[in-house]
Amino acid sequence: MNAEIISVGTELLLGNIVNTNAQYLSKRLAELGHFVYRQTTVGDNAERLAQVLKEALERTTLIVMTGGLGPTQDDLTKETVAKLFNRKLLLDEVSLKRIRERTGEIELSDANKKQAYIPEGAILLPNDVGTAPGCILEDRGKIIVLLPGPPVEMENMFERYAAQHLKHYSEGVLVSRILRIFGLRESQLAGILKDFFERYENPTVAPYASDGEVTVRITARATDKKQAEKMIAPVAEEIIKRLGDHIYAEGKTSLEEVVIEMLKKAHLSIATAESCTGGLMASKLINVPGASEVFKEGIIAYSNEAKMRLLGVTSQILKTHGAVSAETALEMAKGVATLAGSDIGVSITGIAGPGGGTPEKPVGLVYIGIWFAGRKSVKKLQLHGNRNWIRLKSALYALDTLRR
Ligand code: ATP
Ligand code: MG
Repeated sequence: MNAEIISVGTELLLGNIVNTNAQYLSKRLAELGHFVYRQTTVGDNAERLAQVLKEALERTTLIVMTGGLGPTQDDLTKETVAKLFNRKLLLDEVSLKRIRERTGEIELSDANKKQAYIPEGAILLPNDVGTAPGCILEDRGKIIVLLPGPPVEMENMFERYAAQHLKHYSEGVLVSRILRIFGLRESQLAGILKDFFERYENPTVAPYASDGEVTVRITARATDKKQAEKMIAPVAEEIIKRLGDHIYAEGKTSLEEVVIEMLKKAHLSIATAESCTGGLMASKLINVPGASEVFKEGIIAYSNEAKMRLLGVTSQILKTHGAVSAETALEMAKGVATLAGSDIGVSITGIAGPGGGTPEKPVGLVYIGIWFAGRKSVKKLQLHGNRNWIRLKSALYALDTLRR
């Protein structure tokens, strides 16, 4: 069914917070088979809120609203909706009891009590992690869902209570399969998969770039999940064939998860020696639950002195080749593997900028060294971007190098 999202909150309009609720809901509504045609943001103002709501009701069957359910004066979403549909606001005893328990107030203040009211005839959506309940109101063929503003409360309420109702109203499902890619830019991908991006109506194929990686999303609309998956399968197969091992995983799996899994399977341990990334790679690896089975230690050797003292890089190598060089990277990788007694040592040394670049060694020059049972390999990268981007990409490239 066609849907719109209305986000309520002056702080959204002022740019104080990012509207993550709308993003979350758009994605989830699509997965539940609803077509979101608009997102509107409006401040905590009764008149403008009523106006926005009226306009949406003229176009749309399903309206999902977030924010403005709380105790304060400026929380007026329920009041506005009730007024528009000529419904009284009725006290919900269960919510009242819950608010009493959560706030610890025996005699509730009017402000806190206000939250326990929902429009007459609405379906209650309990708030398990906060105070203000939400609700679903069905009236004259329209469905209005009211959810709280705080993302944790909104998501909990949506997943536990609202989603099951919304499933009943949907006319089909939208299913996506995500292929995760590393080592190709979005523009390169656009070239390789041009015909897919143009050819397919259903399923659709689209690239997304985020946090230094690119993903390809294949989305099918069908009557049920199984049917959609069947439509996606041959398209995915063809794309996988074309992109080869640039695809490192599907769905939500990260590069570091792939690396940890691979090391576990091969019974190999690893240690890291990082300069410009300052422990970013180690941190990513340790983020994966169960990393302790394979990750031994990580060293941040930032200065030349530290590279010598901690990793045994010789002053000769540093003098002759510099800290950012293939030679130093290899010494660092070997040094940390020896120190940790690990099967694999991996190192990163580079120039993250903005200063420190020279014509021979510009900002963004990064070496990744790998030492594996006596065998050495090194990868030279020339990255572009600001300091944090270069650091992030370096860590990701190191993980990608390990994976291959
Ligand atoms: P409360 O009971 O906390 O007052 P509420 O339902 O009245 O909840 P708001 O007052 O509109 O919701 O928002 C509360 C907080 O939730 C905001 O200050 C903000 O931190 C967060 N929030 C609200 N709307 C959004 C949104 N669309 N995206 C992300 N965060 C949001
Ligand atoms: Mg509020």
